[in-house]
Amino acid sequence: MQLDQLDQATPEQLKQWEAELANEYQTIVEQKLSLDLTRGKPSPEQLNLSDALDGILKGDYRAQDGTDTRNYGGLDGVPEGKQLGANLMGVSPDNVLVGGNSSLTLMFQVMLTAHQFGLAGPESAWKNEGEVKFLCPVPGYDRHHTVCEQLGIEMIPVPMTENGPDMDKVEDLVKQDSKIKGIWCVPKYSNPTGVVYSDDTVKRIAGLGKIAGANFRVFWDNAYAVHDLVDNPPELACVMSACERQGTEDSVIQFASTSKITHAGAGVAFVNASAANLKGFKQFLGSCTIGPDKVNQIRHSRFLPDRDALLQHMEGHAKLLKPRFAAVLDALDQAFSDNDLGHWQAPKGGYFVSFDTRPGCARETVRLASEAGVKLTPAGATFPYGKDPEDRNIRIAPSVPSVSEVKGAMQVFVICVKLASVRAQLKA
Ligand code: PLP
Repeated sequence: MQLDQLDQATPEQLKQWEAELANEYQTIVEQKLSLDLTRGKPSPEQLNLSDALDGILKGDYRAQDGTDTRNYGGLDGVPEGKQLGANLMGVSPDNVLVGGNSSLTLMFQVMLTAHQFGLAGPESAWKNEGEVKFLCPVPGYDRHHTVCEQLGIEMIPVPMTENGPDMDKVEDLVKQDSKIKGIWCVPKYSNPTGVVYSDDTVKRIAGLGKIAGANFRVFWDNAYAVHDLVDNPPELACVMSACERQGTEDSVIQFASTSKITHAGAGVAFVNASAANLKGFKQFLGSCTIGPDKVNQIRHSRFLPDRDALLQHMEGHAKLLKPRFAAVLDALDQAFSDNDLGHWQAPKGGYFVSFDTRPGCARETVRLASEAGVKLTPAGATFPYGKDPEDRNIRIAPSVPSVSEVKGAMQVFVICVKLASVRAQLKA
């Protein structure tokens, strides 16, 4: 069967392909599989890599500055907690605030502060201007979209390119509309495309503060800063240095966490921002908490004392993840490298492979896979309001299943993509 000529195929040929594929699909359905390629979380083996966190303190709860970490206080975090965040993000520890276990929580809280209370005092609150809009590079991270939806912020999709968001579009939009108050960015191994922003993109993002309306903030979610899967990983330019060169330090807020480094539910999260932004945020944060879990901060800093230790630890993750990604990419290469039924790029790190079907086939592919026992992230989830206008994008997350399970799930995925494509062509 030559699916490379789907557009030229006669109706008879299409019907024959459909019958053959439907047969193959039925055989799979009868196997009653139960496989899951949905959420990008660490596998149990990855979590095991950090089990030495347990008991590491051996009763010594003092931070480097003498703080008794068991007690209240320390809204910013202890010095070694800040240093861990600095090692992770490649910035100065002076501009790091250490939070609880989730960077998503910090992103939500910073956005809430900017919206309701103002990061630079009450007159800077976005809500004062009524309507608030935010740019969302697509495909993107569904939970970013949920934060905006929760706060009633209108989302404007902008396309991703292989160098990051389409910066011509981004610059045009922020110049034209002062109600656009920011942009979501996952600058390294973007969720889900795996794109690493180019140096030029980083520079232009750092320049947005000069052309946007008042109180514009880039939410720089550096969730995959050290999550490399190749030996010579691409380097992401430092956005804060780019801001310093352009005098826009207040326009970018960076986030990161150890969620996919140590224990995903019991890690440490960080904000990196200018002194002014941190001051504004701490005013809000101080009304929510007397302080974060500093015991966990020192556990983490003793487990990962410097950047070398951090990078070495990440090699353990890469070793476990690489064969799973290879299983996904091999299956896609074999099935689609000689036809136009799908487009994807091999990511050099992160947690996802982003796959684009032919227009109008993503939803049906996900439905077919689900009925054959393979769970995929719902089609559309990577777009604001869950609406993928072309119904093309599917996010594949292979970290949790075993290699043989990933292989099995990809066999099903491939047949579902083919069947959905042929059926769509039959209807065209
Ligand atoms: N940001 C991105 C881009 C993610 O993909 C994820 C998790 O999948 C998170 C943030 C969640 O981070 P945390 O566990 O620190 O809240």
